[in-house]
Amino acid sequence: MPFRDVLPQESEFWEACARHTNRQTARTIQAIYLCDDCAIRLTKEGFNDRPPIYHGETIEGFCGLCNAEKNVTLRLWFACVYCWNVVVAYQKGFVASQSVHDYWARSITPLFPHLKLTETGKIYISPYARSPKTKKAAATGITELDFVVDKVEGEQKTPLFHIELKAGPGSIHEMREFQLDINDSNDIIGCVNNTKLPCYIFHEQLAHRYAPPTRATVATGTWWTDIFTLLENRLAVRGRRGEDKEAGYYSPRAFKPIESFADELRERRYIQLKERLEKEPLTLT
Ligand SMILES: [Zn+2]
Ligand SMILES: [Zn+2]
Repeated sequence: MPFRDVLPQESEFWEACARHTNRQTARTIQAIYLCDDCAIRLTKEGFNDRPPIYHGETIEGFCGLCNAEKNVTLRLWFACVYCWNVVVAYQKGFVASQSVHDYWARSITPLFPHLKLTETGKIYISPYARSPKTKKAAATGITELDFVVDKVEGEQKTPLFHIELKAGPGSIHEMREFQLDINDSNDIIGCVNNTKLPCYIFHEQLAHRYAPPTRATVATGTWWTDIFTLLENRLAVRGRRGEDKEAGYYSPRAFKPIESFADELRERRYIQLKERLEKEPLTLT
Protein backbone atom coordinates (compact mmCIF):
# COMPACT_ATOMS: atom_id res chain seq x y z
CA MET A 1 0.00 0.00 0.00
CA PRO A 2 1.54 3.35 -0.96
CA PHE A 3 1.83 5.93 1.81
CA ARG A 4 -1.02 8.38 1.35
CA ASP A 5 -1.86 9.48 4.92
CA VAL A 6 -2.76 13.15 5.14
CA LEU A 7 -3.04 15.64 7.97
CA PRO A 8 -6.76 16.37 8.53
CA GLN A 9 -7.82 20.01 8.21
CA GLU A 10 -9.31 19.78 11.71
CA SER A 11 -5.86 19.07 13.17
CA GLU A 12 -4.51 21.65 15.61
CA PHE A 13 -1.34 21.55 13.47
CA TRP A 14 -3.07 22.72 10.27
CA GLU A 15 -1.24 25.86 9.12
CA ALA A 16 1.56 25.07 11.57
CA CYS A 17 5.16 24.04 10.90
CA ALA A 18 5.27 20.23 10.78
CA ARG A 19 8.79 20.16 12.22
CA HIS A 20 8.18 22.54 15.11
CA THR A 21 7.03 20.33 17.99
CA ASN A 22 5.09 23.14 19.68
CA ARG A 23 2.54 24.78 17.44
CA GLN A 24 4.29 27.41 15.34
CA THR A 25 2.05 29.04 12.78
CA ALA A 26 3.36 28.50 9.25
CA ARG A 27 1.12 29.01 6.26
CA THR A 28 3.91 28.36 3.79
CA ILE A 29 3.33 25.12 1.88
CA GLN A 30 6.60 23.37 1.01
CA ALA A 31 6.93 20.79 -1.74
CA ILE A 32 9.34 17.88 -2.04
CA TYR A 33 9.49 14.70 -4.12
CA LEU A 34 10.08 11.69 -1.87
CA CYS A 35 9.97 7.94 -2.19
CA ASP A 36 7.40 6.27 0.06
CA ASP A 37 9.98 5.05 2.58
CA CYS A 38 11.44 8.53 2.99
CA ALA A 39 8.01 10.16 3.24
CA ILE A 40 7.20 7.81 6.12
CA ARG A 41 10.62 8.37 7.69
CA LEU A 42 10.36 12.16 7.50
CA THR A 43 6.82 12.09 8.92
CA LYS A 44 7.89 9.95 11.88
CA GLU A 45 11.38 11.21 12.65
CA GLY A 46 11.26 14.82 11.52
CA PHE A 47 7.67 15.93 11.54
CA ASN A 48 6.21 14.79 14.88
CA ASP A 49 4.10 12.13 13.11
CA ARG A 50 2.34 14.77 11.04
CA PRO A 51 1.84 13.39 7.51
CA PRO A 52 1.80 15.59 4.39
CA ILE A 53 -1.27 17.68 3.64
CA TYR A 54 -1.22 16.32 0.06
CA HIS A 55 0.39 13.63 -2.10
CA GLY A 56 0.65 14.50 -5.78
CA GLU A 57 1.98 12.85 -8.91
CA THR A 58 4.32 9.87 -8.84
CA ILE A 59 7.19 9.99 -11.31
CA GLU A 60 10.60 8.46 -11.92
CA GLY A 61 13.20 10.80 -10.40
CA PHE A 62 15.55 11.46 -7.50
CA CYS A 63 14.26 11.25 -3.93
CA GLY A 64 14.72 14.52 -2.04
CA LEU A 65 15.89 12.64 1.04
CA CYS A 66 17.72 9.38 0.17
CA ASN A 67 18.90 10.68 -3.24
CA ALA A 68 18.03 7.34 -4.92
CA GLU A 69 16.64 7.30 -8.44
CA LYS A 70 13.27 5.61 -8.15
CA ASN A 71 9.54 6.27 -8.03
CA VAL A 72 9.00 9.48 -6.11
CA THR A 73 5.80 11.29 -5.22
CA LEU A 74 5.19 14.99 -4.69
CA ARG A 75 4.44 15.69 -1.00
CA LEU A 76 3.28 18.96 0.53
CA TRP A 77 3.69 20.04 4.15
CA PHE A 78 3.25 23.26 6.08
CA ALA A 79 6.72 24.20 7.28
CA CYS A 80 8.57 27.34 8.25
CA VAL A 81 11.48 28.46 6.10
CA TYR A 82 14.04 27.72 8.79
CA CYS A 83 12.90 24.10 9.18
CA TRP A 84 12.55 23.60 5.45
CA ASN A 85 16.19 24.55 4.95
CA VAL A 86 17.10 21.86 7.47
CA VAL A 87 14.95 19.29 5.65
CA VAL A 88 16.38 20.11 2.23
CA ALA A 89 19.93 19.83 3.65
CA TYR A 90 19.51 16.17 4.66
CA GLN A 91 19.98 14.89 1.09
CA LYS A 92 23.28 16.80 0.89
CA GLY A 93 24.40 15.49 4.26
CA PHE A 94 23.74 11.88 3.25
CA VAL A 95 25.62 12.29 -0.03
CA ALA A 96 28.62 14.00 1.62
CA SER A 97 28.90 11.28 4.24
CA GLN A 98 28.55 8.49 1.67
CA SER A 99 31.30 10.11 -0.36
CA VAL A 100 33.72 9.79 2.60
CA HIS A 101 32.79 6.11 3.05
CA ASP A 102 33.30 5.51 -0.68
CA TYR A 103 36.66 7.29 -0.69
CA TRP A 104 37.84 5.27 2.29
CA ALA A 105 36.75 1.94 0.80
CA ARG A 106 38.26 2.76 -2.60
CA SER A 107 41.52 4.53 -1.71
CA ILE A 108 42.43 3.89 1.94
CA THR A 109 41.31 0.37 2.87
CA PRO A 110 43.41 -1.28 0.10
CA LEU A 111 46.56 0.54 1.34
CA PHE A 112 45.88 0.55 5.09
CA PRO A 113 43.45 -2.27 5.84
CA HIS A 114 43.97 -1.88 9.60
CA LEU A 115 42.59 1.71 9.58
CA LYS A 116 38.88 1.51 10.20
CA LEU A 117 36.54 4.43 9.51
CA THR A 118 33.44 4.71 11.70
CA GLU A 119 30.74 7.32 11.33
CA THR A 120 30.16 8.73 14.82
CA GLY A 121 28.12 11.78 13.89
CA LYS A 122 25.47 10.00 11.88
CA ILE A 123 22.90 12.39 10.50
CA TYR A 124 19.67 11.87 12.27
CA ILE A 125 16.42 13.38 11.22
CA SER A 126 14.77 15.21 14.08
CA PRO A 127 12.04 17.71 14.86
CA TYR A 128 12.87 21.28 15.81
CA ALA A 129 13.95 21.57 19.43
CA ARG A 130 15.82 24.26 21.27
CA SER A 131 19.18 23.09 22.55
CA PRO A 132 19.24 23.32 26.36
CA LYS A 133 22.90 24.42 26.65
CA THR A 134 24.70 27.28 25.00
CA LYS A 135 26.81 26.15 22.06
CA LYS A 136 30.08 27.07 23.77
CA ALA A 137 29.15 25.13 26.93
CA ALA A 138 28.10 22.17 24.80
CA ALA A 139 31.41 22.17 22.89
CA THR A 140 33.38 21.60 26.08
CA GLY A 141 31.64 18.24 26.61
CA ILE A 142 31.95 16.90 23.04
CA THR A 143 33.87 13.66 22.51
CA GLU A 144 32.78 12.72 18.99
CA LEU A 145 32.73 14.46 15.62
CA ASP A 146 31.54 13.09 12.27
CA PHE A 147 33.96 10.15 11.94
CA VAL A 148 36.62 8.44 13.99
CA VAL A 149 39.47 6.36 12.58
CA ASP A 150 40.74 3.46 14.67
CA LYS A 151 43.74 1.23 14.24
CA VAL A 152 42.37 -2.31 14.46
CA GLU A 153 44.69 -5.19 15.31
CA GLY A 154 42.85 -8.38 16.16
CA GLU A 155 40.59 -7.57 19.08
CA GLN A 156 42.41 -4.34 19.84
CA LYS A 157 41.05 -1.01 18.65
CA THR A 158 43.02 2.21 19.17
CA PRO A 159 41.42 5.52 18.15
CA LEU A 160 43.86 7.61 16.09
CA PHE A 161 42.02 10.72 14.92
CA HIS A 162 38.67 12.32 14.13
CA ILE A 163 37.38 13.55 10.80
CA GLU A 164 34.94 16.44 10.63
CA LEU A 165 33.08 16.78 7.38
CA LYS A 166 32.03 20.10 5.86
CA ALA A 167 30.13 20.25 2.63
CA GLY A 168 29.29 23.10 0.30
CA PRO A 169 28.89 24.13 -3.32
CA GLY A 170 32.37 25.64 -3.61
CA SER A 171 35.59 24.16 -4.94
CA ILE A 172 38.60 24.99 -2.74
CA HIS A 173 40.44 26.13 -5.91
CA GLU A 174 37.87 28.79 -6.66
CA MET A 175 37.16 29.89 -3.09
CA ARG A 176 38.45 33.21 -1.78
CA GLU A 177 37.79 32.21 1.82
CA PHE A 178 36.75 29.00 3.47
CA GLN A 179 34.00 29.74 5.99
CA LEU A 180 33.32 27.75 9.15
CA ASP A 181 30.88 28.73 11.88
CA ILE A 182 32.56 29.48 15.19
CA ASN A 183 30.19 26.95 16.79
CA ASP A 184 31.60 24.29 14.47
CA SER A 185 35.25 25.16 15.02
CA ASN A 186 34.60 25.22 18.78
CA ASP A 187 33.05 21.75 18.53
CA ILE A 188 36.23 20.51 16.87
CA ILE A 189 38.50 22.26 19.39
CA GLY A 190 36.44 20.97 22.36
CA CYS A 191 36.50 17.44 21.00
CA VAL A 192 40.24 17.26 20.25
CA ASN A 193 41.05 18.63 23.70
CA ASN A 194 38.66 16.20 25.42
CA THR A 195 39.82 13.12 23.56
CA LYS A 196 43.49 14.14 23.05
CA LEU A 197 43.10 13.07 19.45
CA PRO A 198 43.73 15.28 16.44
CA CYS A 199 41.10 16.09 13.85
CA TYR A 200 41.19 16.31 10.09
CA ILE A 201 38.64 18.47 8.32
CA PHE A 202 37.33 17.26 4.95
CA HIS A 203 35.62 19.69 2.60
CA GLU A 204 33.24 17.97 0.24
CA GLN A 205 32.11 19.89 -2.82
CA LEU A 206 28.52 19.12 -3.70
CA ALA A 207 26.57 19.96 -6.83
CA HIS A 208 23.04 19.33 -8.01
CA ARG A 209 22.17 17.17 -10.96
CA TYR A 210 18.78 18.20 -12.23
CA ALA A 211 16.14 15.83 -13.48
CA PRO A 212 13.19 18.25 -13.30
CA PRO A 213 11.10 18.41 -11.27
CA THR A 214 13.52 16.43 -9.07
CA ARG A 215 17.20 16.84 -8.43
CA ALA A 216 20.02 14.74 -7.07
CA THR A 217 23.06 15.81 -5.09
CA VAL A 218 26.45 14.65 -6.37
CA ALA A 219 29.84 14.87 -4.67
CA THR A 220 32.33 16.42 -7.09
CA GLY A 221 35.54 16.93 -5.11
CA THR A 222 37.16 16.48 -1.70
CA TRP A 223 39.94 18.41 0.07
CA TRP A 224 41.44 17.98 3.52
CA THR A 225 43.35 19.81 6.24
CA ASP A 226 44.06 19.32 9.94
CA ILE A 227 42.78 21.51 12.77
CA PHE A 228 46.18 23.11 13.49
CA THR A 229 46.76 24.07 9.86
CA LEU A 230 43.21 25.34 9.56
CA LEU A 231 43.48 27.61 12.63
CA GLU A 232 46.86 28.91 11.46
CA ASN A 233 45.15 29.96 8.25
CA ARG A 234 42.37 31.92 9.93
CA LEU A 235 42.11 35.33 8.32
CA ALA A 236 39.19 36.81 10.25
CA VAL A 237 36.26 36.21 12.55
CA ARG A 238 33.16 38.16 11.76
CA GLY A 239 29.39 38.00 11.97
CA ARG A 240 27.65 36.21 9.17
CA ARG A 241 25.62 38.53 7.02
CA GLY A 242 22.06 38.86 8.30
CA GLU A 243 22.58 36.36 11.13
CA ASP A 244 23.66 36.62 14.73
CA LYS A 245 26.15 33.76 14.25
CA GLU A 246 29.87 34.33 13.96
CA ALA A 247 32.05 32.56 11.48
CA GLY A 248 35.78 32.10 10.97
CA TYR A 249 37.20 32.83 7.53
CA TYR A 250 40.22 30.85 6.41
CA SER A 251 42.65 30.88 3.55
CA PRO A 252 41.81 28.01 1.18
CA ARG A 253 45.56 27.33 1.13
CA ALA A 254 44.98 25.35 4.34
CA PHE A 255 43.47 22.58 2.19
CA LYS A 256 45.05 19.93 -0.03
CA PRO A 257 43.41 17.66 -2.59
CA ILE A 258 42.24 14.36 -1.13
CA GLU A 259 44.76 12.40 -3.24
CA SER A 260 47.50 13.48 -0.82
CA PHE A 261 45.71 12.20 2.29
CA ALA A 262 47.15 8.69 1.80
CA ASP A 263 50.67 10.18 2.21
CA GLU A 264 49.57 11.79 5.47
CA LEU A 265 48.54 8.35 6.70
CA ARG A 266 51.67 6.67 5.31
CA GLU A 267 53.84 9.16 7.23
CA ARG A 268 51.55 8.73 10.26
CA ARG A 269 51.58 12.46 10.76
CA TYR A 270 48.53 12.13 13.04
CA ILE A 271 50.97 10.92 15.72
CA GLN A 272 52.89 14.21 15.51
CA LEU A 273 49.60 16.10 15.67
CA LYS A 274 48.62 14.16 18.79
CA GLU A 275 51.95 14.98 20.45
CA ARG A 276 51.52 18.62 19.55
CA LEU A 277 48.03 18.61 21.03
CA GLU A 278 49.32 17.18 24.31
CA LYS A 279 51.86 20.01 24.54
CA GLU A 280 49.56 22.81 23.41
CA PRO A 281 45.81 22.26 23.84
CA LEU A 282 43.72 24.47 21.55
CA THR A 283 41.63 27.34 22.89
CA LEU A 284 37.96 27.92 22.13
CA THR A 285 37.16 31.07 20.18
ZN1 LIG B 1 13.95 8.15 -0.52
ZN1 LIG C 1 9.63 25.11 11.81
